Amino acid sequence: MDLNEAIEARREDLIALTQDLIRMPTLNPPGRGYREICEYLRDRLAGSGFDVTLVRAEGALGDSDRYPRWNVIARREGARAGECVHFNSHTDVVEVGHGWTVDPFGGELRDGRIYGRGACDMKGGLATSIIAAEAFIATYPDFAGAIEISGTADEESGGFGGVAYLAERGWFDPARVQHVIIPEPLHKDRVCLGHRGVWWAEVETRGRIAHGSMPFLGDCAIRHMGAVVAEMEASLFPALALKRTAMPVIPEGAKQSTLNINSIHGGAPVPEEGYTGLPAPCVADRASMIIDRRFLMEEDIAQVKAEMRDVLDRVAARRDGFDYTLSDMFEVQPSMTDRAAPVVTAVSDAIRDILGNEPDYVVSPGTYDQKHIDRIGRLKNCIAYGPGVLDLAHQPDEWIGVQDMLDSAKVMGQALKTLLGCADAK
Ligand SMILES: [Zn+2]
Repeated sequence: MDLNEAIEARREDLIALTQDLIRMPTLNPPGRGYREICEYLRDRLAGSGFDVTLVRAEGALGDSDRYPRWNVIARREGARAGECVHFNSHTDVVEVGHGWTVDPFGGELRDGRIYGRGACDMKGGLATSIIAAEAFIATYPDFAGAIEISGTADEESGGFGGVAYLAERGWFDPARVQHVIIPEPLHKDRVCLGHRGVWWAEVETRGRIAHGSMPFLGDCAIRHMGAVVAEMEASLFPALALKRTAMPVIPEGAKQSTLNINSIHGGAPVPEEGYTGLPAPCVADRASMIIDRRFLMEEDIAQVKAEMRDVLDRVAARRDGFDYTLSDMFEVQPSMTDRAAPVVTAVSDAIRDILGNEPDYVVSPGTYDQKHIDRIGRLKNCIAYGPGVLDLAHQPDEWIGVQDMLDSAKVMGQALKTLLGCADAK
């Protein structure tokens, strides 16, 4: 049996594995069921000859005794020395949301698709990499090097209790891992080289409280914030729309710089649940806005921050009493792996070989765990490659196609042949 046949023969196993993973509701936040899914993966991979370690990200952002951040790393040594290929998947899924017509944790199989929260993002990708690795090991027991598979926490909330924690402790040190594939749902014929940068910040405007019937005695922080938004509309948004990147970002709209206003809060706090009275008449003395700026390889983060500060300073120059603070919350540098990197060429050749078409090279509009592998782990040879349709991620009735997973597993298997020195590798 050749490798492709060995993968096809595992179709039922792949379906059952994907369903099992979906049926564990590893919702993040708050971070439920990490231990359970890590133990499941430990038992599965130990049965396939992997040495398995469970690591709790003790003390990491989000870790608590109630919601511990568990991660699993499994390693299978080959018959001789060589390089290590690591498949990293996050085990967490985002909230269910509204609009589902199937059980979000049922793992229902219908017309060749498996449904559920996390089906494409990314339990289907995790299952695909496990099947690819197991079929590869069975077909080429004398392979060189090593294969690792990890299931990590908290990708959806920044990855600090997952890949970042592991990278800080050397798990992605280039001395022990040489190639990383993250099976996020980018589609079976796409190689994702990296992602744009991120800067989150909070803008606060301040005013002075007074009686609402005499607002001239106070100073309204919400009106000041309104002036900030108006200035952003007039000068910042048009400027961002003109910036274009040479990075192959998808979708097309994300080839420019973008800024989202995530939230604005001002004035009196939202009344407690059950309060049935009227609000009190007060002039708002504080308003805050959270912004989410996504930037390009060609931009410098200091410049990105200076642009926003310029907006605020322009407003300050013309508004009496305008006072603000601008605070950093979170930042990530853009990341893009070279097209000539060995993991890129191995997966690209495998796509040509298995699927018969040219791979599409893309960059993700949002970040994923590659940022930690690149910045903390200092490992540049990293891509996202996996089955599934990106647009379905975080949506109701999320699904993954069984045939897409099988095709993707064959591509992963072929890439393993190339990277782990198998004799008949093309
Ligand atoms: Zn994901």
